[in-house]
Formats: sequence, C-alpha cells, structure tokens
Amino acid sequence: MNELTYFVTGASGQLGRIAVSLLASRKLRVVAGARNPQKLEDLAALGVEVRLCDYDKPDTVFQALEGVDRLLLVSSSEVGKRVAQHRTVIHAAHAREISLVVYTSILQAATSPLLLASEHKATEEILAEAGMSHVLLRNAWYSENFQMGVPTALEHGAVYTAAGDGRFSPATRQELAEGAVAALTAAATQPETIYELAGSASFSMPELAATLSLRSGRKVDCVNMAEGDYAAMLKNVGVPAGFADILAQSEVMAEQGAHSDESRALERLIGRAPLSLSELVDQWITPIN
Ligand code: NDP
Repeated sequence: MNELTYFVTGASGQLGRIAVSLLASRKLRVVAGARNPQKLEDLAALGVEVRLCDYDKPDTVFQALEGVDRLLLVSSSEVGKRVAQHRTVIHAAHAREISLVVYTSILQAATSPLLLASEHKATEEILAEAGMSHVLLRNAWYSENFQMGVPTALEHGAVYTAAGDGRFSPATRQELAEGAVAALTAAATQPETIYELAGSASFSMPELAATLSLRSGRKVDCVNMAEGDYAAMLKNVGVPAGFADILAQSEVMAEQGAHSDESRALERLIGRAPLSLSELVDQWITPIN
C-alpha cells in the first residue's frame, strides 16, 4: 500500500495538537489543519505540513483536503455552529473521496440526554448519510475538566457539583488522542465503527473529594448544589450564561449515567488502562502540595 496521508482538523487545539504530534512521531505523513495556521509554527518547524482549514470557509476546507487519504475531524469548539461546520468538512471529504473519516463525538451520542450531544448526534447522522467509511469516537469528559477545579477545591476545602452521586469515567486528552490515532491508522476499516471511549473505572464527585482529601492531607468536602445554583456559580466565575446552563445540565445528567461507560474500548485501543482516579489526583496535586 502507498504511504497514506493523514489530515487532522482543529490542530491548533489541545486534542488535535497531540494527535498531530503522535502521527509525526511515528514518521507518518500528516497534514495539520487550522483556521489560524500561525498557531502551528512550532509544528511546521518540526516538518509537519500546515494548511489553512476554516470550517466557516468551505473553500479553505476543500483546498486543505487535497491528496488526503484519512481524516481526523476534531469537533469544533464553537457550540451552536457545529452542525454546519462539520457538514462543511464532511461534504469536502466526500468530494475529495477520502477513504476514512474519524470523528470526535460524545459518549452515547445517539441516546445521550446532554444538551451538548445534539450537535454530535446530528454530525454522526451527516456522516452516515455521506456514505464514507467512518469511525465515531464517542469521547467521555476529559480528565482535565476535573483537574481545572482542583486548586480551588484545595483552597476552599470543597468540591462543588450538581452531579449528586452520578458517576464519571473520564480520560485524559493524551489517552483519547492516542485512541484517535489508533483508529485513524488501523489496518482494516469498516463502513462504520463506534467506540465509546472512557476511563476504565468511574468515580462520583464525593469520591473525587474523598480522594483529594486522602492524597493531599487536606480536608475537602463535596457540596452538591441544585442545577440553577450551580449554573449561577459558573456565571459568577465568568462562564458565559448560555454555556453555564449547558454545563450545569451536563453535570446533573451524570445521575442518569450520561458520563460513564464500562466498555473499556479505550483501554483496548491504546493497550493500557487509562489513569485511575488515584493516579490522576496524584498527578494533579504534586505541583500544588
Ligand atoms: P480546544 O478548544 O483546545 O480546540 C478546539 C479547536 O477547534 C481549535 O483548534 C479551534 O481553532 C478549532 N476551531 C474552532 N472553530 C473553528 C473553525 N471555524 N474552523 C477551524 N477550526 C476551528 O478543544 P480540545 O482540543 O480540548 O477538544 C477538542 C474538541 O472536543 C472541542 O473542540 C470540543 O468539540 C470537544 N470538547 C470535549 C470536551 C470533553 O470533555 N470531552 C471538553 C471540551 C471540548 P482555534 O485554535 O483557532 O480556536
């Protein structure tokens, strides 16, 4: 088989950047796409080809995908605009006769009660209609989402949540990017492959607080809030109102199982268990303690 050319969209973002680096480190032919290519000057200096690829400008997407065999479509960060943006990329990929599209979706996209899931579900449907071979990476919450709150939790002695006893099985961006690259470079492809990608062991927010206490030696309680109060707290710390409501709804839906998965598909894809809660907490608090 001729050497394949891989393309990663959203390569200036955190997940896309890791995926490009992983592909480049394997000496595979990879093109990094971004709407702001100047953000990728460091990768270009390492020899990675960088192309302009702005989801809002269909011509740039079509141009960017010239000569590409396999595409990693990293979902856009622009909530509310994503269906049109992803449709642009999928139609360009179809026009370019790309043989495999790998898309970063959300856990249980087809049935998820999360408001955030609707754009992913719609994208999955557009992919199915387009008829190209595709892989749906239904990614769980990033572990880093929890890490962001750790300094405040240690300072105030409390983890604030609206998730009650709902469980989360997150994975790090590194782990999910490794999963994405494994799917993208797989020897055999199917018309449709679906992976629910998550950590191998779930935890609740009270368990997160207890583990923070245990590992840091500081007292950390878990404070459960009503959805509206939690959304108001997020707005107070600067989260835009509409997005704060979406995040609060996501948190509450943990009790309906929206954030946990026991398939262990990620563990099989990357050949090791994603970091456990204790391992994550130890990494997070080392620079703080
Ligand atoms: P980032 O916010 O770090 O990266 C988002 C990427 O999308 C950036 O490269 C950004 O470009 C790019 N982008 C946004 N709009 C456009 C556009 N019009 N054209 C081209 N590119 C665009 O997110 P992550 O890498 O951390 O995560 C990847 C995706 O996963 C997110 O975009 C989001 O869909 C989803 N996500 C998942 C979470 C989870 O917990 N599982 C949490 C948060 C997001 P630029 O650098 O120019 O802004």
